[in-house]
Amino acid sequence: MKTTVITVGKEVLTGKTINTNLMHIASRLSQIGIDVNRSFVIDDITEEYNKILDYCDENLIIFTGGLGPTIDDITRETVLNYFKVPTYVNQDVLSKIKEYFDRTSVTMQDTNDKQALFPVNGVMLSNQLGTAPGVLFPVDDKIIVLLPGPPHELIPMFEQVIDYLQKTLDIRLFSRGFKLVGIGESTMEKNLKDFYIQHPSVNLAPYASIGEIKYVFTSDDEEKLDEAMIDFYQLFSEYIYGDLEDVLHGVVVEMLIQENLVISTAESCTGGMLASAITSISGSSAIFKEGFVTYSNEAKMKYLDVKKDTLDTFGAVSEECAIEMCTGLQENTQSDIAISITGIAGPTGGTTDKPIGLVHFGLMFKNKKIHERKVFNGNREMVRTRAVIFALNMIRKELVNAKNYY
Ligand code: ATP
Ligand code: MG
Repeated sequence: MKTTVITVGKEVLTGKTINTNLMHIASRLSQIGIDVNRSFVIDDITEEYNKILDYCDENLIIFTGGLGPTIDDITRETVLNYFKVPTYVNQDVLSKIKEYFDRTSVTMQDTNDKQALFPVNGVMLSNQLGTAPGVLFPVDDKIIVLLPGPPHELIPMFEQVIDYLQKTLDIRLFSRGFKLVGIGESTMEKNLKDFYIQHPSVNLAPYASIGEIKYVFTSDDEEKLDEAMIDFYQLFSEYIYGDLEDVLHGVVVEMLIQENLVISTAESCTGGMLASAITSISGSSAIFKEGFVTYSNEAKMKYLDVKKDTLDTFGAVSEECAIEMCTGLQENTQSDIAISITGIAGPTGGTTDKPIGLVHFGLMFKNKKIHERKVFNGNREMVRTRAVIFALNMIRKELVNAKNYY
């Protein structure tokens, strides 16, 4: 269904208001499989409405703004006039508008009657938060929708439009997805080139956040959707940690519970964020033993038995220190898994050898010692968040490997 959104008002044209209504309408429609083809912003002048309506050949035309009860709000009567549909004055709406004028102590003009004009075959879109109800009416092969400008009124009202469209157009859409970690969006998009061609009836949308990507699959054909998801899984299983409802730390805690394994953490630059992520999951007490925030060199020596020599020779942000942190942690806590994080979150403290964002990780699991070195992009908080996600993914990968092995 070809769709256009027409935003009315000086506020948007003069840059005083950002057109967030378009953002909401377009993204909500895309969730039910309707794409917005184009969008316009017009001044609230009769001539502008007429010109744009002459021009638009879309089947779904959505107006936002200019629906209020004041004299400059002309969307309703102008659009109804344009289509010459039979109308009536809705008495309930009229009395609501009268109340509004009483409240604001402004004399109501007779011309305001027109604000209660409704098309005979229209659907009223009730507005709990303002005076002006919206309206939706079919005319010829088109559906016209009129909505108010204030987003807090428009957003709940738009759900009535979604309901109407889903019922009338018999839209049945299936939507599921995967969450991925350990791979960047641009690498994924390169790898997905053929996939898009092979699955034309499935819409695949990536949503990237710090350290993770979510892929949402949508289709009206459930079988095709399943086929696409199986193909996708086969291609990217090593990065997939769960479905749309899952969170990485939750998945890791669940795996540890399943495997009956106990973990301890030793953190420097992340200051306890990893321990906090793990313990935010209910049930984590069964698998989380101890968490150390060893920020200073003294603390690394005192609690984790890191050697002074190691710190003097290689520094705290080094492979050697990360490994000693996790071995000391494992010995002192007798945990099945011991993980350490030491890095430079910035914005100060970077050198040519050890740039900002450099993080060393150590992990001990079943007598196996693993070291990883990463340089993360972003500001201090982003580096710290990425480090926690990376550490969680290290644990996840080891647990997956161990499971496949036994
Ligand atoms: P009102 O009864 O408030 O006059 P209305 O339907 O006539 O409602 P407008 O007068 O066009 O709406 O806009 C009212 C306010 O809504 C604007 O001042 C602005 O804050 C907000 N608004 C309007 N259009 C948009 C838009 N496209 N995106 C975000 N906010 C908007
Ligand atoms: Mg207005």
